[in-house]
Amino acid sequence: MTRVFNFSAGPATLPEEVLRQAAGEMLDWHGSGQSVMEMSHRGEEFIEIADAAEADLRTLLAIPDNYKVLFLQGGASLQFEMMPMNLMGDTAEVAPTADYIHTGDWAKKAIKAARGLGGVHIAASGEDRSFTYIPPQRTWRLSNDAAYVHYTANETIGGVEFGWVPDVGDVPLVSDMSSQILSRPLDVSRFGLIYAGAQKNIGPAGLTIVIVREDLVGHARPGTPSMLDYAIHANSGSMYNTPPTYAIYIAGLVFRRLLKTGGIAAAEQRNKAKAALLYDYLDGSDFYTNPVEPADRSRMNVSFRLADPALDAEFLAGATKRDLVQLKGHRSVGGMRASLYNAMTLEGVQALVDYLAEFEAMRG
Ligand SMILES: *Cc1c(COP(=O)(O)O)cnc(C)c1O
Repeated sequence: MTRVFNFSAGPATLPEEVLRQAAGEMLDWHGSGQSVMEMSHRGEEFIEIADAAEADLRTLLAIPDNYKVLFLQGGASLQFEMMPMNLMGDTAEVAPTADYIHTGDWAKKAIKAARGLGGVHIAASGEDRSFTYIPPQRTWRLSNDAAYVHYTANETIGGVEFGWVPDVGDVPLVSDMSSQILSRPLDVSRFGLIYAGAQKNIGPAGLTIVIVREDLVGHARPGTPSMLDYAIHANSGSMYNTPPTYAIYIAGLVFRRLLKTGGIAAAEQRNKAKAALLYDYLDGSDFYTNPVEPADRSRMNVSFRLADPALDAEFLAGATKRDLVQLKGHRSVGGMRASLYNAMTLEGVQALVDYLAEFEAMRG
């Protein structure tokens, strides 16, 4: 068996140990005589799995007791709409406004979704420099009456990342952390709500995690469908309907493994080392370029270009031959992108850097 080095932006590579454990438990989970996939979500076994996953996530991120952890579906994309429906206010009279920081493709989608639901104010934007930087907070123009301030912690497509948490006073801070969560330490108490699709840094697609401060739950706007009301999910322990049971199980294995390998602080050290290895190589080369402002470069998604886009296809074919896959950039931006989530190993990044050098020597 050969496992490739998978640089996909998502669904993304998972820790091999987790996959092996899941394989070992596939037919018979802990002597239950059944696969986790076959279990009732209301049975004792699965409740144990879900409770452990939540407890481990709470430990990893030191989530305060006054925050709910919800295991939902619909991806981050559903949160683009569900979150405003719950946070923009529960009275019909007030015209709600929310502040958004525009940093690229995912922020744009979040903004578009929120515009359909209420007043959106763009408090800052990186568009003037093609989203190659994070607008510093001193340039933000926050409104006085915002229901919340939303930002995209890591732009998975553009490869720009917040290395800091904005200070927005008493206004609830909301973040799409789909491609940042668990990659670096996080002070949850600074946030009103955090959401993340699982398929980048947590586990399989189909699971979406929402971490929300309790006082923000229970204010869905009139007419909100039950399935889109945080209170309904919070009050039923994320079991209002059938949750994505297998995805929760795998996420739980990922959390447990993170705890056993030094927690988030150790994960951050590994992620720093991987990103530095790749960026240092790119910076030292005249053949590859990365357009992002160095201080705002993403540790998770490294976008880069070859000097001549006519070589892209040959580059990708050569990479695949060396078991380095999914390096093609997002269709909206072209070029290359290497995603270095928690489960990507330093060995994988070294193999990529070796190939970059080899290709540059041949075609540079
Ligand atoms: C992948 C991604 C999304 C979209 O997630 P879906 O699960 O496809 O809805 C949203 N935001 C960010 C930052 C992402 O990386």
